Amino acid sequence: MPEVGNIPPPPAPAPAHSLFGKYELGKLLGCGAFAKVYHARDLATGQSLAVKVFNKQKITNNTSLMTNIEREIDIMRRLRHPNIVKLYEVLATKTKIYFVMELVKGGELFTKVAKTRLSETQSRKYFQQLISAIGYCHSRGVYHRDLKPENLLIDENGNLKVSDFGLSAVTGQIHDDGMLHTLCGTPAYVAPEILKKRGYNGSTADLWSCGVILFVLTAGYLPFNDPNLMMLYKKIYRGDYHFAKWMSADLRRLLSRLLDTNPTSRITIDEITIHPWFKKGSKGTKFYDCEDEEFLVKPEPNGETTPLNAFDIISFSPGLNLSPFFDNVCNTPSPGEKVMVAGPPEDVIEKIHESVKEDDVRIKRRKDYGMELVWHNGKFVIGLEVFRLTERVVVVEVQSRGGGSELYDEFWKKRIKPELFDRRWEA
Ligand code: AMP
Repeated sequence: MPEVGNIPPPPAPAPAHSLFGKYELGKLLGCGAFAKVYHARDLATGQSLAVKVFNKQKITNNTSLMTNIEREIDIMRRLRHPNIVKLYEVLATKTKIYFVMELVKGGELFTKVAKTRLSETQSRKYFQQLISAIGYCHSRGVYHRDLKPENLLIDENGNLKVSDFGLSAVTGQIHDDGMLHTLCGTPAYVAPEILKKRGYNGSTADLWSCGVILFVLTAGYLPFNDPNLMMLYKKIYRGDYHFAKWMSADLRRLLSRLLDTNPTSRITIDEITIHPWFKKGSKGTKFYDCEDEEFLVKPEPNGETTPLNAFDIISFSPGLNLSPFFDNVCNTPSPGEKVMVAGPPEDVIEKIHESVKEDDVRIKRRKDYGMELVWHNGKFVIGLEVFRLTERVVVVEVQSRGGGSELYDEFWKKRIKPELFDRRWEA
């Protein structure tokens, strides 16, 4: 008969908030518009971790999207770099997906910049770490495609960590109600060739975003900014920005190469690493040659990955209302909103025509894709403009130009808008 002292104690029951009996979920660390990030503890090792939780429903309805996501998760798992947030494990329940990640304790880089711009020396350190991470991933055929302030975290030692690498299609994009998140905040980091949607190279597009990030770090404000979304896009297309007067000549030269609107002449990672501003004070660090694991994912022969990003997610969706985002940007005095709709502008305009064809309405065409719908001999007018955002997505900007909010609700909200959102996009 064994002595009582030799009987191993029964395993401690998993805590009430445990995830698959493996991780204990703790306090909320941060809230993306779509995902929530919690502090967690590995029950076996006691290690502190971060767990990002997001709703699975919106993405699992689409099998091709899901396949891409699975591929991206697979890539992400294999990335090992000191400046990339490590993804340890992906778990899923029927309704949720959990990313078990390295915990980064220092918060977002841009909360620092929000207080004050950084010196060129401080900015250089972060930029070198960013380029190191980006270079490492690009050399393995992985592109971020959604680099923006929320994805740059600082650890307790003051080092930069890029999060969501390879996961831009999954995280931080869609609200619980299916709304796109990437454009939320600002599309100011997106390269012109992505906005034009004529096909793009993930590598050069990421470097444009790095240029915007470097500009923000050193200037304390965005290079491209405008409360009007279309004006903002125009500025991005034209590369219309102004250096801050305190920027050094070398920094200006580097920024102008990063924010080159032509992706084919834009600076490459190799060129960045030998640029005088970038190299200053560094001792010939190998910027993206990190210890590697077996890395099975090869770049596509043409150097591009499947271009699946936030914009593609919109086109997979039947129609996404981004008005909360746009409404923050534009203070429209009379009733009005901007919505994002799947389809080329011509189709969307045709849809608008169809939705009012039974009515006593006069349609006045304005230049480009603008039009006015006039009821009751001009007593009630709705102005509509349709802007091409990508090949398959347009923004419809609508404004009541007389007639009051009741008529606006009656015609736009109840009649025209539901027609536009009735489009089902074939993936
Ligand atoms: P996200 O949905 O990725 O934008 O994350 C929302 C917030 O959660 C971020 O702003 C961070 O403050 C926090 N967060 C995200 N990932 C981590 C992480 N690995 N470690 C600590 N905090 C994180």
